[in-house]
Amino acid sequence: MTNATEYVRLIQEKLHQQDNGQEEFLQAIDEFMPSATKFLEKHPEYINRNILGILTEPERIIQFRVPWQDDEGNWQVNRGYRIQYNSAIGPYKGGLRFHPSVNLSILKFLAFEQIFKNSLTGLPIGGGKGGSDFDPKGKSDDEIMRFCQSFMLELSKHIGPSIDVPAGDIGVGAREIGYLFGEYKRLKQYDAGVLTGKPLDFWGSKIRTEATGYGLVYYVKHLLHAENESFANKTVFVSGSGNVAIYAIEKVHELGGKVVTCSDSSGYIYDPEGIDLSLLKEIKEEKRQRLTEYAKVRQSAVYHADASVWTLKEKGEIALPCATQNEITENLARNLVENGIMIVAEGANMPCTFDAVSVFEQADVWYCPGKAANAGGVAVSAIEMSQNSQRLSWESEKVDQQLDEIMQTIYQTCRKTAAEYGNEKNLLLGANVAGFEKVAKVMYAQGLV
Ligand code: GLU
Repeated sequence: MTNATEYVRLIQEKLHQQDNGQEEFLQAIDEFMPSATKFLEKHPEYINRNILGILTEPERIIQFRVPWQDDEGNWQVNRGYRIQYNSAIGPYKGGLRFHPSVNLSILKFLAFEQIFKNSLTGLPIGGGKGGSDFDPKGKSDDEIMRFCQSFMLELSKHIGPSIDVPAGDIGVGAREIGYLFGEYKRLKQYDAGVLTGKPLDFWGSKIRTEATGYGLVYYVKHLLHAENESFANKTVFVSGSGNVAIYAIEKVHELGGKVVTCSDSSGYIYDPEGIDLSLLKEIKEEKRQRLTEYAKVRQSAVYHADASVWTLKEKGEIALPCATQNEITENLARNLVENGIMIVAEGANMPCTFDAVSVFEQADVWYCPGKAANAGGVAVSAIEMSQNSQRLSWESEKVDQQLDEIMQTIYQTCRKTAAEYGNEKNLLLGANVAGFEKVAKVMYAQGLV
C-alpha cells in the first residue's frame, strides 16, 4: 500500500502534467491536496480504491459553439461550456458564468470547488459549473436574450432536473435565467426544476437572490458567536457590488456592523459613514450603472479609480471579499493584517491566493474558505429544487431560517472536523476534509462508475 503523501503527490504531479497551463484549476487542486493527504492518512481504504484519483477527473466536459447576432446584424460567436464534475451525491449543480475571462481552467476550478461546497450543504447535489466568455457588459437586452437562447439551444441537450441543474454566477442573474428558462421550455417542456435562481413569478424561491450574501454573514455570525463576539460596532470591508456583495452588506447592517467599502472592476468606494444600501441597490440593480455614480450622489464617499479595495489603509475587523478569484494576493493580505483584520470570509470563489491564505494563517486571522462560507447560495438553490418538486412556494421566513441553520451546521462541521485533525482554527482543512469525506464514502459505496 502506498502512503498518503506519496499517493497524493503522484496525483498532483499527473494533473500538473496533463493540465499544464490551467492555472486556476491547478491552484484549486494544490490548495485541496494537503487536506486530502491528512484525511487519507486516517482512511487508507480510499487509497486502495484510488477514490481521489478518480474524483479529480471530471465525469464529463462539454464545450460548444454559441453563435448569435448582435443589434447591428453582425454574426458573432462565443465559446460555451458545462463541466459535469461529480454526480456521486446528486445531479450536477452549479452556476453559469458569463464573463470575458471564462475559460476551461476557471470553470474546472469552480466546478471542483463546487463538489465540496455542495457536499457541505448536506443536500443531495453533485458538482458542476458552466458558462461562456461572452461579455454581457454594454450589450442590449435583446442581444443578451439572443445569446441566452443560442446558449440554451445546445446546453438543453445535456441538462435536466435529475441530470444537471445550472443557476447563475458572475454575469448571470434573474434576467439571464429568465431567457435561458424560456428557451429550455420551448425546446423541451415546462420543467421548472431544470434551472435555479428563477424569478419569483415563475417558480423561483424567496431569498435565493439574497442567499449567498446572507449565508456568508450567517457563517461569520456563528463564528463570532462561538468566540463571544458579534457584528455590533464592527467595521467591515466588502469588495464587489454584485448580488453577493449587496446582500452581505444588507445583513451586516442588520446585525449592527458597518460596511465601509464596495467595488467594481474600475475602482472602489470608501464611505466612512457606512455604505448607503438603498442608493447602491438603485445604482446597481435598477439602473445597472457604475459605482462612480454612487460617489457623485453621496457626500461622504470617496471613489478610488483603478485601485483595489484591499489597498485601503483603515482599521477594520472583518473582510468579505465578494468580487472574484485571486483578488487578495500576498501583499494585499499583509495590508489587511496591518489594518487589524480578525476574520476573512470568502463570498466569492477563491478570492484569496494560496500565499494570502498563508499570511492569514501565520497572523492567526480566521480564514473562512468560500466553499464553506458562500455555500448559502447553492443551498437555497437546492431548496428551490425541493419547492419545485413539491409544486409549493415557501415563505421568506422559512427559507431564511433554513439558510441560517444550514450555515450554522456548515460552520460547526468545519470547526469540529478541523479540531479532529489537530487544529480547530484551520477552517480550510475542516471544509476540505468534511466535504471530501462524504463524496469519497458515496463513491466507494457506488463502486467503480
Ligand atoms: N454560483 C453559485 C456558487 O458559486 C451558486 C450555484 C447554484 O446555485 O447552483 O455556488
